[in-house]
Amino acid sequence: MSNTLAYLLDGKIYINLTNRCTNSCIFCLRNDKDDVCGKNMWLDNENFTAQDVIDQLEKLPLSNEITFCGYGEPLLKLDILKEVAKYIKEKHPEVKLRINTNGHANFVHRRNIVPELAGLIDTISVSLNAPTEEEYNELSQPSFKNAYEEVKKFIKASSNAGIHTVCSIVEGYKGRHMDIETCKKIANELGATLRVREWIENGYS
Ligand code: SF4
Repeated sequence: MSNTLAYLLDGKIYINLTNRCTNSCIFCLRNDKDDVCGKNMWLDNENFTAQDVIDQLEKLPLSNEITFCGYGEPLLKLDILKEVAKYIKEKHPEVKLRINTNGHANFVHRRNIVPELAGLIDTISVSLNAPTEEEYNELSQPSFKNAYEEVKKFIKASSNAGIHTVCSIVEGYKGRHMDIETCKKIANELGATLRVREWIENGYS
C-alpha cells in the first residue's frame, strides 16, 4: 500500500486518515498541491485499518505531539481515530494528541461525539474560518446548511468537555483580511482561544 497514513513534518508526526471533507475551502491546500514536504497526501484507497496507521506510525521517530490532520477531515474516520489515539495514549502516555477539524463531526455522526474524545485528545483545533455565517459559506463552501452554527456548537461542546480548544482562521489569503477581533470574541465566548494562521505562498503557518 502506498498510502501515506502517518508522516513527519518539522520533527512532528501527523496522521492522514482521509481525503474526504464536508467543506471545500477556497484556501484548502488540496486545491493547489498533492504533497506535504514531498509526501503524497492523496490516498490510493481508504480501506485501511487502525493497525495500518499504527504500523506506519511506529516506523517514525516519536514526537512529543501527534496531530490528526491531513488532506481531509479526520473525524469522518472517527472509529479509526479513536483506536489509534487509544493505542498512542496507552503506549506513549506522555505524547500530546491533537485533532485539526472542520467541526462538522456532530452533524455528520448525528450525535455529540466529543465525550468519546475526552481523555484521549488533549487539544482540538477547529476551523472557525470566519466571523459570520455569510463569510464562512463563502470561504468554506460547506456541503450542508447551517454549518457555521454546527461549527460553533462543536467548539462549545469541546470546551465544555474540558478539552483544550482552539479556533483557527486563515489571515491574508490572496490579500484577504479577516475581522480578527470579532473572531477572537466568538472564540472566547465559546470557551476557546483563537489562532491566526498567516497565509504564506503554498500553505499557511
Ligand atoms: S476543512 Fe480543511 S481539509 Fe476540508 S476543505 Fe477546508 S481546508 Fe481542506
